[in-house]
Amino acid sequence: MSDTTRSAAEAAARLTKSTPVGYGFCAWHKEFTRGVRLVHVEEAGSGPNTAGSKFACTPCREKYGLIQFADRPM
Ligand SMILES: [Zn+2]
Repeated sequence: MSDTTRSAAEAAARLTKSTPVGYGFCAWHKEFTRGVRLVHVEEAGSGPNTAGSKFACTPCREKYGLIQFADRPM
């Protein structure tokens, strides 16, 4: 497999696996909406169940400065 082919395959895998897009529950404004993305959550002191990942819509990501998983360095 060439580097070009492998890069394209990895990009496609990243889009489909690490950047889920679609209809889902925004954990910030507490409603189902379209275009939610998986974001990383760090809430120190809030308990083990709150840290990790949640889905957030685009307006909430901008409002709260949330970071998409895909935007973080591996
Ligand atoms: Zn939202």
